[in-house]
Amino acid sequence: MTCKFCQKREADKKNTHYLTDGIIRSCLNEDGANVREKGYMFEVSNSTPFIDFNFQRETSQNSILEALGREPTEEEIANAKQIAYSVDYVFCRTCEGFFTEIEEQFSQTILPRLRGNDLTGTSELSFPEKTIMRQFFLLQVWRTSICDPIFNIPPALQNELREILFDKDISEQRINAIPLNVTYLNTLGDDFEYTKNLVGIGIIDGNYVIFFNDFTIQVFENEASIKYVDIYGINAKDTFNHFTNRNEESFIIKVINNTERIEVSNAYFRQEKVEKQLNFYKEIFQKQCLASFGQMPSERLTAAFINGIIHDKDCTDATRYTADRILKYSYSFFERLYNYR
Ligand SMILES: [Zn+2]
Repeated sequence: MTCKFCQKREADKKNTHYLTDGIIRSCLNEDGANVREKGYMFEVSNSTPFIDFNFQRETSQNSILEALGREPTEEEIANAKQIAYSVDYVFCRTCEGFFTEIEEQFSQTILPRLRGNDLTGTSELSFPEKTIMRQFFLLQVWRTSICDPIFNIPPALQNELREILFDKDISEQRINAIPLNVTYLNTLGDDFEYTKNLVGIGIIDGNYVIFFNDFTIQVFENEASIKYVDIYGINAKDTFNHFTNRNEESFIIKVINNTERIEVSNAYFRQEKVEKQLNFYKEIFQKQCLASFGQMPSERLTAAFINGIIHDKDCTDATRYTADRILKYSYSFFERLYNYR
């Protein structure tokens, strides 16, 4: 296969991280230094009903899937074993060296001003080194779009990014024209704190988003496609335009303080995980009705089943979405249905 970057040489490089390893490692904790929690790695897509967890983590979601009789597929197990966000034989060694240069520039000049600093009370930071910023974050966007089919950015944007990154002498105007929004989630405390951040890729209401541990990247094809979307409290309607850089003098980053940062992960779990789980229960319920009664349940009956999951007082909030509770709840719900018939 030919390298997707130079489009000339043989793609001979194994284990290329398409999300910079030095950024995501502390969240995913691949070294196993802290096995208690592995960070949240996921993909959100409008086209799939579930959040696609790429690795096996001891979550209630996993237990629920298990309890409901679904084993992880071969593919999911293979994905889980793969090194996170890395690919083999997509790029060549020469291009990999070029990526590393961009990454090192960022981690030497920009990262120390962010990571490890208490930015409480700071809501934004401005960087005159806009080219270093843009190259680094746009590299993440472009590589991810090449390596992860879920992140299907418009082909015109993908081409433009490759050309901009490939030719360092290309006019500054072109690289500066890409609308790029970066948020920094100030992470204070020990390494374990980083595992509470998110690493994942999503297209959320048409916005292309990369959750990149203590960074969030949002990119747009052009000025006209810039759109405010609420993303777990990361964006604010009145400042979104301000923080979306294009043709800027200095590159502006939005800063979210440590307390609000934890709220972002919480909001993610509330909004996405629970919602997707509910869709999952709905499907299971419909299948079970079909199997038991030979017909699909009415919307009203399905709603009653789901409402009970969310609101019934047969459990505590802590156990509401555990496999044990869902099974007991479903059992008694079906028992009532049988009895009524
Ligand atoms: Zn190459």
